[in-house]
Amino acid sequence: MAKCWETRGCDEEMLSRCPHNIPGERCPADCHFAACHRPTHHVSMDPALVFRVDLDREHCMKDICQFCEFFLTNGPVIEELAEAEKEFEARKS
Ligand code: SF4
Repeated sequence: MAKCWETRGCDEEMLSRCPHNIPGERCPADCHFAACHRPTHHVSMDPALVFRVDLDREHCMKDICQFCEFFLTNGPVIEELAEAEKEFEARKS
């Protein structure tokens, strides 16, 4: 599976003159060039996805990915947090 959320999309030349470029930080959602035009991109309005606690959001190169259904359903999971979430849900029921 393509890990598109791990691709920033700028080349070295663009990064060198980008006013938003803070090395190691994600491209901010207000950057015109950080907009996602991939066919897999759909902004999620589902709070259960947007507020998932077990996703490893460190893998996102762009802020916009954190609201994308594709990342929210396919992104890497922190196993310990996933287990804790399952236990929490089991206790609730
Ligand atoms: S916004 Fe969605 S489709 Fe676009 S790069 Fe991020 S995860 Fe991939």
